[in-house]
Amino acid sequence: MNKEKTDMLKGPKIYLTTRTSVDWDQVAEFLSDQGVPPIPDSIRAGSDESAAVVEISARLCYMSYGRGRKDISDFINNLLSFKDGSVFEHVNYGFVVTGVSRSLTHELVRHRAGFAYSQRSQRYVDESGASFVIPPALMSDAVSSDHVREVFDQAMKDAAASYDQLVNALEESLDENVFEKKTDRRKAIRQAARSVLPNATETKIFITANVRAWRHFIEMRSAPYADWEIRRMAIKILSLLIDEAPLLFGDFTIEQLPDGTSIATPLHSKV
Ligand SMILES: Cc1cc2nc3c(=O)[nH]c(=O)nc-3n(C[C@H](O)[C@H](O)[C@H](O)COP(=O)(O)OP(=O)(O)OC[C@H]3O[C@@H](n4cnc5c(N)ncnc54)[C@H](O)[C@@H]3O)c2cc1C
Repeated sequence: MNKEKTDMLKGPKIYLTTRTSVDWDQVAEFLSDQGVPPIPDSIRAGSDESAAVVEISARLCYMSYGRGRKDISDFINNLLSFKDGSVFEHVNYGFVVTGVSRSLTHELVRHRAGFAYSQRSQRYVDESGASFVIPPALMSDAVSSDHVREVFDQAMKDAAASYDQLVNALEESLDENVFEKKTDRRKAIRQAARSVLPNATETKIFITANVRAWRHFIEMRSAPYADWEIRRMAIKILSLLIDEAPLLFGDFTIEQLPDGTSIATPLHSKV
């Protein structure tokens, strides 16, 4: 699909697609089997099931259901401040992210522990008509010249044209007889042609991680020294997670820097 116009994207779209939930009947049965009091109010508190998962798992260690801490917020804060991080691994959030660059996902996938990824393939999926992500600095008020955008836009158009030319040239010249299946040949063409696509090429990725991993990722990638594009995505994910699970992410503070970008800092570092 060759497009007349090359789309230049200004930022990501992030969908919170999957979350962990509690089967309250099973929890009640477990407590009853163990001869401990029914589900205490502390666990039931609020609509935030993610915090309940953390409390249920943490209390299993000492079979302390219904005892101690005054409420779930106090309980979670205590775990965070003592860096009892492993119980936060029971809660997972999955996001589909579109409108991010390949350079962003190259940095993202360095995060290993507790993360799962599924990314759009450049070998199976045709990149003719690809979109490109404008680096945040090029849209910043701190940049006074239009020239930087002109240079960037032209480079993207040239790369897109080179990709199409390479696909067409390979379609004509790559020997069909050396491939068992047509799809193998198509893959061989695309995997060669993608080498001329830039870091800014848009990609789509499904990321799932547990809360401990998300907290670490957000801390590292929303710090002032992180790349602006991944920082912007980390802070958007953080904002969604603060709304979704305030007890698990509410200790992060988001602030704006003089350059117009934002950073985020946790009260409890590397839990
Ligand atoms: C601003 C910035 C600049 C960077 N620049 C570069 C660069 O120039 N070049 C480069 O190569 N990388 C660079 N990185 C990537 C960085 O080195 C890490 O690979 C990445 O941030 C993932 O961090 P992590 O290993 O802590 O995370 P995860 O893989 O998510 O691991 C989380 C934690 O689990 C533990 N862990 C995970 N795996 C292991 C293991 N195998 N053994 C022991 N403990 C483990 C560690 O405590 C780790 O911190 C940069 C990162 C940032 C934030």
